[in-house]
Amino acid sequence: MNNCKRIVKTGEKPGQGTYSCTSCHTKVSLGAGDKMPPCPSCSNDSFCAE
Ligand SMILES: [Zn+2]
Repeated sequence: MNNCKRIVKTGEKPGQGTYSCTSCHTKVSLGAGDKMPPCPSCSNDSFCAE
């Protein structure tokens, strides 16, 4: 089920890309220097790098 290459946590700066919440699958797009926020939908702190 979970084929994440990399898990990113809230507060990390994982780099530019799209990340999806591991709980509700909401997608969050970040720029190069952006910090990962909590999930805007469910406040989860764990995201999958796509
Ligand atoms: Zn979520």
